[in-house]
Amino acid sequence: MQKNTPFENYVTRLIRTKDILGYTDNDIEFLKTPQNVIDDTISITRDSGEQAPYKAYRVQFNNMRGPYKGGIRFHPDADIDEVKALAAAMTIKCAVVDIPFGGAKGGVQFNPKTASKKEIQDISRAWARLMAPHIGAHKDIPAPDVYTNGQIMGYILDEYEKITGVSEPGLITGKPLAIGGSLGRDRATAQGGVYVLQTLVKELGRDTEKLRVSIQGFGNAGYTLAILLHDKGYRIVGASDSRGGIYAKDGFDPREVMKIKEEKGSVVDYTAPGIEILSNEAIIGSECDILVPAALDNQIRADNADTVKAYIILELANGPTTPDADQILESRKIIVVPDVISNAGGVTVSYFEWVQNISSFYWTENEVFEKLEPIMVHAFEAIWKMSTAKQISLRDASFAIAVQRIIEAAKARGVLELN
Ligand code: GLU
Repeated sequence: MQKNTPFENYVTRLIRTKDILGYTDNDIEFLKTPQNVIDDTISITRDSGEQAPYKAYRVQFNNMRGPYKGGIRFHPDADIDEVKALAAAMTIKCAVVDIPFGGAKGGVQFNPKTASKKEIQDISRAWARLMAPHIGAHKDIPAPDVYTNGQIMGYILDEYEKITGVSEPGLITGKPLAIGGSLGRDRATAQGGVYVLQTLVKELGRDTEKLRVSIQGFGNAGYTLAILLHDKGYRIVGASDSRGGIYAKDGFDPREVMKIKEEKGSVVDYTAPGIEILSNEAIIGSECDILVPAALDNQIRADNADTVKAYIILELANGPTTPDADQILESRKIIVVPDVISNAGGVTVSYFEWVQNISSFYWTENEVFEKLEPIMVHAFEAIWKMSTAKQISLRDASFAIAVQRIIEAAKARGVLELN
Protein backbone atom coordinates (compact mmCIF):
# COMPACT_ATOMS: atom_id res chain seq x y z
CA MET A 1 0.00 0.00 0.00
CA GLN A 2 1.42 3.34 -1.04
CA LYS A 3 1.47 5.93 1.71
CA ASN A 4 0.41 9.46 0.85
CA THR A 5 2.46 12.33 2.20
CA PRO A 6 0.86 14.62 4.84
CA PHE A 7 0.64 17.42 2.27
CA GLU A 8 -1.15 15.15 -0.24
CA ASN A 9 -3.60 14.31 2.55
CA TYR A 10 -4.24 18.03 3.05
CA VAL A 11 -4.87 18.54 -0.68
CA THR A 12 -7.30 15.59 -0.76
CA ARG A 13 -9.30 17.23 2.02
CA LEU A 14 -9.13 20.65 0.39
CA ILE A 15 -10.49 19.33 -2.92
CA ARG A 16 -13.51 17.83 -1.15
CA THR A 17 -14.61 21.35 -0.12
CA LYS A 18 -15.04 22.33 -3.79
CA ASP A 19 -18.22 20.30 -4.19
CA ILE A 20 -19.55 21.22 -0.76
CA LEU A 21 -19.17 24.95 -1.44
CA GLY A 22 -19.70 24.98 -5.21
CA TYR A 23 -16.29 26.55 -5.84
CA THR A 24 -14.15 26.54 -8.98
CA ASP A 25 -10.76 24.86 -9.43
CA ASN A 26 -9.28 28.33 -9.52
CA ASP A 27 -10.54 29.25 -6.03
CA ILE A 28 -9.12 26.07 -4.57
CA GLU A 29 -5.84 26.27 -6.51
CA PHE A 30 -4.95 29.27 -4.39
CA LEU A 31 -4.97 27.12 -1.23
CA LYS A 32 -2.76 24.41 -2.73
CA THR A 33 0.45 26.45 -2.55
CA PRO A 34 2.27 28.10 0.35
CA GLN A 35 3.04 31.79 -0.07
CA ASN A 36 6.61 31.53 1.22
CA VAL A 37 8.93 28.63 2.07
CA ILE A 38 12.20 28.99 3.98
CA ASP A 39 14.11 25.71 3.67
CA ASP A 40 17.69 26.13 4.85
CA THR A 41 20.38 24.74 7.14
CA ILE A 42 21.57 25.99 10.54
CA SER A 43 24.63 24.74 12.29
CA ILE A 44 25.91 24.70 15.86
CA THR A 45 29.00 23.45 17.66
CA ARG A 46 28.00 20.36 19.66
CA ASP A 47 29.34 19.81 23.17
CA SER A 48 31.75 17.28 21.62
CA GLY A 49 33.36 20.15 19.65
CA GLU A 50 32.13 18.96 16.25
CA GLN A 51 30.21 21.29 13.94
CA ALA A 52 26.72 19.92 13.23
CA PRO A 53 24.32 21.09 10.49
CA TYR A 54 20.52 20.72 10.78
CA LYS A 55 17.70 21.31 8.30
CA ALA A 56 15.63 24.32 9.42
CA TYR A 57 12.25 25.33 8.04
CA ARG A 58 9.48 27.89 8.13
CA VAL A 59 6.52 27.55 5.80
CA GLN A 60 4.34 30.67 5.63
CA PHE A 61 1.28 29.16 4.10
CA ASN A 62 -1.31 31.91 3.91
CA ASN A 63 -1.82 35.35 5.46
CA MET A 64 -5.10 36.50 3.95
CA ARG A 65 -6.84 36.69 7.38
CA GLY A 66 -3.91 38.08 9.38
CA PRO A 67 -0.24 37.47 10.19
CA TYR A 68 1.14 33.96 9.70
CA LYS A 69 0.79 31.88 12.89
CA GLY A 70 1.98 28.48 14.01
CA GLY A 71 4.40 26.43 16.05
CA ILE A 72 7.94 25.17 15.59
CA ARG A 73 8.80 21.50 16.08
CA PHE A 74 12.17 20.00 16.88
CA HIS A 75 11.96 16.43 15.67
CA PRO A 76 14.34 14.02 13.91
CA ASP A 77 11.62 13.29 11.29
CA ALA A 78 10.54 16.91 10.65
CA ASP A 79 10.74 17.37 6.88
CA ILE A 80 9.56 20.03 4.49
CA ASP A 81 6.50 18.11 3.28
CA GLU A 82 5.27 17.59 6.84
CA VAL A 83 5.93 21.21 7.82
CA LYS A 84 4.07 22.37 4.69
CA ALA A 85 1.06 20.21 5.61
CA LEU A 86 1.10 21.47 9.19
CA ALA A 87 1.31 25.09 7.98
CA ALA A 88 -1.73 24.50 5.76
CA ALA A 89 -3.54 22.93 8.73
CA MET A 90 -2.76 26.03 10.86
CA THR A 91 -4.36 28.22 8.16
CA ILE A 92 -7.50 26.08 8.31
CA LYS A 93 -7.43 25.92 12.14
CA CYS A 94 -7.21 29.69 12.69
CA ALA A 95 -10.06 30.21 10.24
CA VAL A 96 -12.22 27.50 11.89
CA VAL A 97 -12.13 29.30 15.24
CA ASP A 98 -12.26 32.66 13.43
CA ILE A 99 -9.18 34.27 14.98
CA PRO A 100 -7.41 36.94 12.89
CA PHE A 101 -4.39 34.90 11.81
CA GLY A 102 -3.15 33.05 8.77
CA GLY A 103 -1.13 29.86 9.03
CA ALA A 104 2.52 28.83 9.23
CA LYS A 105 4.72 26.14 10.75
CA GLY A 106 8.41 25.76 11.43
CA GLY A 107 10.80 23.02 12.31
CA VAL A 108 14.32 21.83 12.85
CA GLN A 109 15.27 18.26 11.89
CA PHE A 110 16.90 17.51 15.21
CA ASN A 111 16.29 15.33 18.26
CA PRO A 112 16.27 17.45 21.44
CA LYS A 113 16.00 14.26 23.54
CA THR A 114 19.65 13.49 22.77
CA ALA A 115 20.92 17.08 23.12
CA SER A 116 22.17 19.11 26.07
CA LYS A 117 20.44 22.29 27.32
CA LYS A 118 23.20 24.37 25.77
CA GLU A 119 22.83 22.66 22.38
CA ILE A 120 19.04 23.21 22.47
CA GLN A 121 19.58 26.88 23.28
CA ASP A 122 22.14 27.22 20.45
CA ILE A 123 19.77 25.59 17.94
CA SER A 124 16.90 27.89 19.04
CA ARG A 125 19.06 31.01 18.66
CA ALA A 126 20.39 29.87 15.26
CA TRP A 127 16.79 29.32 14.08
CA ALA A 128 15.87 32.83 15.28
CA ARG A 129 18.83 34.39 13.41
CA LEU A 130 17.88 32.60 10.19
CA MET A 131 14.21 33.57 10.48
CA ALA A 132 14.60 37.10 11.91
CA PRO A 133 13.91 38.85 8.57
CA HIS A 134 10.75 36.81 8.06
CA ILE A 135 9.03 36.85 11.48
CA GLY A 136 7.50 39.65 13.61
CA ALA A 137 4.46 40.43 15.78
CA HIS A 138 2.56 41.65 12.71
CA LYS A 139 4.20 39.34 10.20
CA ASP A 140 4.62 35.78 11.46
CA ILE A 141 4.22 34.66 15.09
CA PRO A 142 5.81 31.30 16.07
CA ALA A 143 4.84 29.18 19.11
CA PRO A 144 5.66 25.78 20.63
CA ASP A 145 4.86 22.50 18.89
CA VAL A 146 6.18 18.92 19.21
CA TYR A 147 9.29 18.81 21.51
CA THR A 148 9.55 22.60 21.91
CA ASN A 149 8.41 24.58 24.96
CA GLY A 150 8.18 27.98 26.64
CA GLN A 151 11.89 28.09 27.41
CA ILE A 152 12.73 27.66 23.72
CA MET A 153 10.29 30.49 22.88
CA GLY A 154 12.22 32.63 25.41
CA TYR A 155 15.56 31.94 23.63
CA ILE A 156 14.05 32.82 20.25
CA LEU A 157 12.48 36.06 21.54
CA ASP A 158 15.75 37.08 23.15
CA GLU A 159 17.84 36.43 20.04
CA TYR A 160 15.34 38.26 17.82
CA GLU A 161 15.21 41.31 20.09
CA LYS A 162 19.03 41.37 20.19
CA ILE A 163 18.97 41.71 16.39
CA THR A 164 16.20 44.32 16.14
CA GLY A 165 16.95 46.22 19.37
CA VAL A 166 13.24 46.61 20.05
CA SER A 167 11.12 44.95 22.75
CA GLU A 168 8.47 42.89 20.93
CA PRO A 169 6.82 40.27 23.16
CA GLY A 170 4.07 39.71 20.57
CA LEU A 171 6.70 38.15 18.28
CA ILE A 172 6.13 34.70 19.75
CA THR A 173 3.52 32.95 21.92
CA GLY A 174 3.69 30.16 24.47
CA LYS A 175 6.42 32.12 26.28
CA PRO A 176 7.14 31.82 30.00
CA LEU A 177 4.92 34.11 32.14
CA ALA A 178 8.00 36.13 33.22
CA ILE A 179 8.41 37.56 29.69
CA GLY A 180 4.79 38.08 28.67
CA GLY A 181 3.29 34.61 28.45
CA SER A 182 -0.43 34.14 29.13
CA LEU A 183 -1.95 32.45 32.13
CA GLY A 184 -3.68 29.28 30.99
CA ARG A 185 -1.54 28.70 27.86
CA ASP A 186 -0.24 25.34 29.14
CA ARG A 187 -3.76 24.03 29.76
CA ALA A 188 -5.28 25.62 26.67
CA THR A 189 -5.04 22.81 24.10
CA ALA A 190 -6.55 20.21 26.43
CA GLN A 191 -9.15 22.61 27.87
CA GLY A 192 -10.27 23.55 24.34
CA GLY A 193 -10.64 19.82 23.58
CA VAL A 194 -12.77 19.39 26.71
CA TYR A 195 -15.13 22.24 25.71
CA VAL A 196 -15.56 20.63 22.28
CA LEU A 197 -16.08 17.13 23.68
CA GLN A 198 -18.61 18.33 26.27
CA THR A 199 -20.59 20.09 23.53
CA LEU A 200 -20.57 16.94 21.38
CA VAL A 201 -21.56 14.67 24.26
CA LYS A 202 -24.48 17.02 25.00
CA GLU A 203 -25.55 16.97 21.32
CA LEU A 204 -25.53 13.17 21.46
CA GLY A 205 -27.49 13.15 24.72
CA ARG A 206 -24.86 11.01 26.51
CA ASP A 207 -24.03 10.89 30.20
CA THR A 208 -20.35 11.81 30.70
CA GLU A 209 -20.08 9.82 33.92
CA LYS A 210 -20.01 6.53 32.08
CA LEU A 211 -17.70 7.36 29.19
CA ARG A 212 -14.38 5.51 28.91
CA VAL A 213 -11.38 7.34 27.44
CA SER A 214 -8.11 6.00 25.95
CA ILE A 215 -5.31 8.45 25.22
CA GLN A 216 -2.37 7.85 22.90
CA GLY A 217 0.44 10.18 24.02
CA PHE A 218 0.87 11.26 27.64
CA GLY A 219 2.68 14.57 27.03
CA ASN A 220 1.38 18.02 28.00
CA ALA A 221 -1.83 17.89 25.92
CA GLY A 222 -2.71 14.22 26.51
CA TYR A 223 -1.98 14.25 30.23
CA THR A 224 -3.77 17.55 30.89
CA LEU A 225 -6.81 16.26 29.02
CA ALA A 226 -6.73 13.08 31.13
CA ILE A 227 -6.81 15.10 34.36
CA LEU A 228 -9.56 17.46 33.19
CA LEU A 229 -11.77 14.58 32.02
CA HIS A 230 -11.02 12.43 35.10
CA ASP A 231 -12.10 15.34 37.33
CA LYS A 232 -15.36 15.61 35.35
CA GLY A 233 -16.17 11.96 36.01
CA TYR A 234 -15.03 10.35 32.75
CA ARG A 235 -13.21 7.04 33.22
CA ILE A 236 -9.61 7.09 31.91
CA VAL A 237 -9.00 3.48 30.85
CA GLY A 238 -5.99 3.68 28.53
CA ALA A 239 -2.82 5.74 28.16
CA SER A 240 0.37 5.31 26.18
CA ASP A 241 3.69 6.94 25.34
CA SER A 242 6.53 6.08 22.98
CA ARG A 243 7.52 3.09 25.17
CA GLY A 244 4.07 1.46 25.32
CA GLY A 245 0.65 1.66 26.90
CA ILE A 246 -1.47 0.63 29.86
CA TYR A 247 -5.13 -0.34 30.04
CA ALA A 248 -7.53 -0.94 32.94
CA LYS A 249 -11.20 -1.54 32.29
CA ASP A 250 -12.24 0.07 35.57
CA GLY A 251 -10.03 3.09 34.95
CA PHE A 252 -7.09 4.67 36.77
CA ASP A 253 -6.08 8.00 38.27
CA PRO A 254 -3.96 9.81 35.64
CA ARG A 255 -2.10 11.76 38.35
CA GLU A 256 -0.84 8.51 39.89
CA VAL A 257 0.31 7.30 36.47
CA MET A 258 2.12 10.59 35.81
CA LYS A 259 3.93 10.37 39.15
CA ILE A 260 5.42 7.04 38.06
CA LYS A 261 6.14 8.26 34.50
CA GLU A 262 8.08 11.21 35.92
CA GLU A 263 10.03 8.94 38.26
CA LYS A 264 10.72 6.02 35.94
CA GLY A 265 10.21 7.34 32.40
CA SER A 266 7.03 5.73 31.04
CA VAL A 267 3.38 4.94 31.74
CA VAL A 268 4.29 1.25 31.36
CA ASP A 269 6.21 1.44 34.65
CA TYR A 270 2.90 1.99 36.46
CA THR A 271 1.71 -1.17 38.19
CA ALA A 272 -1.59 -1.68 40.03
CA PRO A 273 -4.21 -4.46 40.21
CA GLY A 274 -6.17 -4.67 36.95
CA ILE A 275 -3.56 -2.89 34.82
CA GLU A 276 -2.64 -4.57 31.52
CA ILE A 277 0.32 -3.60 29.36
CA LEU A 278 -0.30 -2.84 25.67
CA SER A 279 1.82 -1.50 22.82
CA ASN A 280 1.56 2.19 21.87
CA GLU A 281 -0.09 0.98 18.63
CA ALA A 282 -2.63 -1.30 20.40
CA ILE A 283 -4.09 1.64 22.31
CA ILE A 284 -5.79 2.60 19.00
CA GLY A 285 -7.87 -0.60 19.15
CA SER A 286 -8.45 -0.54 22.91
CA GLU A 287 -11.94 -0.98 24.36
CA CYS A 288 -13.24 2.57 25.03
CA ASP A 289 -15.89 5.12 24.04
CA ILE A 290 -13.56 8.02 23.26
CA LEU A 291 -10.17 7.57 21.64
CA VAL A 292 -7.79 10.53 21.86
CA PRO A 293 -4.73 10.46 19.61
CA ALA A 294 -2.53 13.06 21.33
CA ALA A 295 0.92 12.22 19.96
CA LEU A 296 2.10 12.28 16.35
CA ASP A 297 0.50 12.20 12.90
CA ASN A 298 -0.40 9.13 10.83
CA GLN A 299 -1.53 6.92 13.73
CA ILE A 300 -5.00 5.87 12.53
CA ARG A 301 -4.60 4.47 9.03
CA ALA A 302 -6.39 2.18 6.56
CA ASP A 303 -4.57 -0.79 8.14
CA ASN A 304 -5.83 -0.24 11.71
CA ALA A 305 -9.01 1.89 11.38
CA ASP A 306 -11.03 -1.35 11.52
CA THR A 307 -9.69 -2.10 14.99
CA VAL A 308 -11.06 1.12 16.54
CA LYS A 309 -13.72 0.34 19.16
CA ALA A 310 -14.43 3.91 20.24
CA TYR A 311 -17.40 5.76 18.75
CA ILE A 312 -15.78 9.19 19.16
CA ILE A 313 -12.23 10.11 18.13
CA LEU A 314 -11.02 13.43 19.51
CA GLU A 315 -7.88 14.44 17.58
CA LEU A 316 -5.63 16.30 19.99
CA ALA A 317 -2.51 15.65 17.86
CA ASN A 318 -2.13 17.26 14.44
CA GLY A 319 -2.87 14.92 11.53
CA PRO A 320 -3.33 11.61 13.40
CA THR A 321 -5.90 10.18 10.93
CA THR A 322 -5.26 9.59 7.22
CA PRO A 323 -7.98 10.28 4.57
CA ASP A 324 -8.24 6.51 3.85
CA ALA A 325 -8.88 5.87 7.53
CA ASP A 326 -11.45 8.69 7.57
CA GLN A 327 -13.48 6.82 4.95
CA ILE A 328 -13.42 3.59 6.93
CA LEU A 329 -14.37 5.40 10.16
CA GLU A 330 -17.18 7.27 8.40
CA SER A 331 -18.64 4.05 7.02
CA ARG A 332 -18.47 2.60 10.54
CA LYS A 333 -20.35 5.70 11.86
CA ILE A 334 -17.48 6.64 14.17
CA ILE A 335 -17.50 10.37 14.88
CA VAL A 336 -14.09 11.95 14.21
CA VAL A 337 -13.69 15.39 15.79
CA PRO A 338 -10.87 16.77 13.63
CA ASP A 339 -7.63 18.33 14.89
CA VAL A 340 -8.47 21.73 13.40
CA ILE A 341 -11.19 22.14 16.04
CA SER A 342 -10.22 19.64 18.80
CA ASN A 343 -6.79 21.15 19.44
CA ALA A 344 -7.53 24.75 18.39
CA GLY A 345 -7.67 25.86 22.05
CA GLY A 346 -3.86 26.11 21.95
CA VAL A 347 -3.65 28.63 19.14
CA THR A 348 -6.70 30.49 20.47
CA VAL A 349 -4.96 31.15 23.78
CA SER A 350 -1.85 32.06 21.75
CA TYR A 351 -4.06 34.69 20.14
CA PHE A 352 -5.07 35.92 23.63
CA GLU A 353 -1.39 36.05 24.60
CA TRP A 354 -0.62 38.14 21.50
CA VAL A 355 -3.54 40.50 22.26
CA GLN A 356 -2.24 40.94 25.82
CA ASN A 357 1.29 41.59 24.51
CA ILE A 358 0.34 44.19 21.94
CA SER A 359 -1.98 45.99 24.38
CA SER A 360 0.43 45.53 27.35
CA PHE A 361 -2.54 44.64 29.53
CA TYR A 362 -2.69 41.23 31.19
CA TRP A 363 -5.67 39.02 32.00
CA THR A 364 -6.46 36.64 34.86
CA GLU A 365 -6.65 32.90 34.19
CA ASN A 366 -10.43 33.11 34.64
CA GLU A 367 -10.67 35.76 31.95
CA VAL A 368 -8.67 33.55 29.58
CA PHE A 369 -10.98 30.54 30.00
CA GLU A 370 -14.15 32.65 30.04
CA LYS A 371 -13.13 33.90 26.60
CA LEU A 372 -11.92 30.53 25.32
CA GLU A 373 -15.09 28.57 26.06
CA PRO A 374 -17.53 30.49 23.83
CA ILE A 375 -15.05 30.54 20.93
CA MET A 376 -14.63 26.74 21.05
CA VAL A 377 -18.31 26.01 21.63
CA HIS A 378 -19.58 28.33 18.86
CA ALA A 379 -17.00 27.05 16.38
CA PHE A 380 -17.93 23.44 17.13
CA GLU A 381 -21.68 24.14 16.96
CA ALA A 382 -21.29 25.71 13.51
CA ILE A 383 -19.34 22.64 12.33
CA TRP A 384 -21.92 20.27 13.84
CA LYS A 385 -24.78 22.18 12.20
CA MET A 386 -23.18 22.10 8.76
CA SER A 387 -22.24 18.45 9.11
CA THR A 388 -25.83 17.50 10.02
CA ALA A 389 -27.46 19.75 7.40
CA LYS A 390 -25.24 18.58 4.53
CA GLN A 391 -24.69 15.01 5.79
CA ILE A 392 -20.92 15.40 5.69
CA SER A 393 -18.20 14.55 8.18
CA LEU A 394 -17.10 17.01 10.86
CA ARG A 395 -13.75 17.26 9.06
CA ASP A 396 -15.35 18.17 5.72
CA ALA A 397 -17.57 20.72 7.49
CA SER A 398 -14.57 22.26 9.31
CA PHE A 399 -12.59 22.56 6.08
CA ALA A 400 -15.59 24.03 4.25
CA ILE A 401 -16.17 26.70 6.91
CA ALA A 402 -12.47 27.61 6.96
CA VAL A 403 -11.97 27.62 3.19
CA GLN A 404 -14.99 29.87 2.77
CA ARG A 405 -13.56 32.39 5.27
CA ILE A 406 -10.08 32.38 3.70
CA ILE A 407 -11.45 32.81 0.18
CA GLU A 408 -13.73 35.61 1.35
CA ALA A 409 -10.66 37.41 2.77
CA ALA A 410 -8.69 36.84 -0.45
CA LYS A 411 -11.58 38.28 -2.47
CA ALA A 412 -11.92 41.25 -0.12
CA ARG A 413 -8.26 42.02 -0.81
CA GLY A 414 -8.65 41.54 -4.57
CA VAL A 415 -6.14 38.69 -4.47
CA LEU A 416 -8.85 36.42 -5.86
CA GLU A 417 -11.38 37.70 -8.35
CA LEU A 418 -14.95 38.27 -7.20
CA ASN A 419 -17.51 36.16 -9.03
N1 GLU B 1 1.52 24.12 17.84
C1 GLU B 1 0.17 24.41 18.22
C2 GLU B 1 -0.79 23.96 17.14
O1 GLU B 1 -0.45 23.13 16.31
C3 GLU B 1 -0.02 25.86 18.64
C4 GLU B 1 0.26 26.86 17.58
C5 GLU B 1 0.24 28.29 18.07
O2 GLU B 1 -0.09 28.53 19.22
O3 GLU B 1 0.55 29.14 17.25
O4 GLU B 1 -1.92 24.36 17.10
